[in-house]
Amino acid sequence: MIPYRVAVIGSGPAGVYAAEALVRSRIDVSVDIYDRLPTPYGLVRYGVAPDHPRIKSIIVALQKVLERGQVRFLGDVHVGIDVTTDELGELYDAVVFATGASVGRRLSIPGEDLAGVCSATDFVAWYSGHPDHAQAGESFPLAAESVVVIGAGNVALDVARLLAKSAEDLAQTDMPPHVLDRLVCSNVRDVHLVCRRGPEHAKFTAKELRELLELDYVATELDADLLPAGSQDPMTAANLKAFADIAAREVVHGQRTLHFHFWSRPVEFLEAGGAVAAVRLERVQDVDGVAVPTGEVTELKAGMVVRSVGYHSTPVGTLPFDDSLGRVPHDAGRVLGPDGRALNGHYVAGWVKRGPTGVVGTNRACAADTVVSILADWEGQPPRGVTSDEVDRVLSERGIRPVTYDGWLSIDSEELSRGQVLGRARTKIPDWETLRRVGASGVAGLGRDTD
Ligand code: NAP
Repeated sequence: MIPYRVAVIGSGPAGVYAAEALVRSRIDVSVDIYDRLPTPYGLVRYGVAPDHPRIKSIIVALQKVLERGQVRFLGDVHVGIDVTTDELGELYDAVVFATGASVGRRLSIPGEDLAGVCSATDFVAWYSGHPDHAQAGESFPLAAESVVVIGAGNVALDVARLLAKSAEDLAQTDMPPHVLDRLVCSNVRDVHLVCRRGPEHAKFTAKELRELLELDYVATELDADLLPAGSQDPMTAANLKAFADIAAREVVHGQRTLHFHFWSRPVEFLEAGGAVAAVRLERVQDVDGVAVPTGEVTELKAGMVVRSVGYHSTPVGTLPFDDSLGRVPHDAGRVLGPDGRALNGHYVAGWVKRGPTGVVGTNRACAADTVVSILADWEGQPPRGVTSDEVDRVLSERGIRPVTYDGWLSIDSEELSRGQVLGRARTKIPDWETLRRVGASGVAGLGRDTD
């Protein structure tokens, strides 16, 4: 009997965990995981900071899922363009959208589009070697001495830390050589983290804050008077302790300085010579637990600004999308149509389902919950009986030849070899052409038609 067949769109943690939950169920099921990129693992590859190899090691677990007999990886297939979501709906018993949240939220303040102001999403994608951003280096003015990073989340902290790190430390990462060359030559001396509320409200996590204590060549500036005595909430208490330790440390000869600014919200980016030159900040105060702007403004010099105030998802094909929430409307993972009713066979998992929150592992439970809904919906309903040949035929007729898991292994091995030559564990291939060429050599005849 032909198994139930599921298409998962997106091979980041949420997509792979959805496949894992499906193949671990008692149901006879096969799963095709599609990705727009020739490489799997989504934000684990292109979002987790390059100096966080321990978090990236989750790839070992994700890889085991891609190696399961019932799972295929179809990289370099753009769902919504190469094949429509409606077509996938016809070819599979269920389609799970796990497309993440790839766009940085905007601040909507004057000067946001000045040269030198960028989103953390773009900056992170560039230094992570994302092929869409291979040429983006010139748009980040690393000649600036003063950089402002806006936001009090872990992404802002990643960006600030990487801007402050030494050439020696950065060379331990898998950054592509052209990225490393630019970061190593950066003139950045001061990195300012601007947080619109207090230390007790920051979304950094203590482990990430404590990493700063290990950077003995980076000075830190934090006003200890702003730190509340403690908190009942264990995570906040751990953060406050980390902030206190940061405030107390003395690094006299720091090559760079990381400054924490709390209770400051950006109200305008100021221009000089056609590019950003400063950020106007307004002091905010706590009035009965509410952050209230005071009207008191200051200016902070900035030759580069990175806004890191969260992500939002983008619409996928014709799938319903809630613009105000920046994600797909759903009920227990079932995509809801405009009439509020579940769309047959369409599901979501990960950030496109719940918004950009949680750590990598949070996606496992999130995806498993969606799979519970899928299995419940299949009760009493046999597989529709479409084979994988049918999908392959549709793609092949359009000249789409997916990069397979073997193709990805070729890319992986090429990156490891490139790293070894440079005395590094890995260096990422940052461009589409090489990724496709190497990905096509994984198995004879695979790869994408270029004409
Ligand atoms: P986040 O944790 O939601 O932080 C966003 C920050 O932006 C908040 O501090 C928020 O302040 C601030 N913000 C929002 N709008 C603002 C505005 N208009 N002006 C000024 N500040 C504004 O988002 P993220 O840093 O992008 O991280 C996304 C997820 O990935 C999080 O769950 C994070 O923990 C996770 N992540 C984890 C790691 C790790 O584990 N190492 C690394 C990177 C990311 P308010 O609180 O005042 O709204």
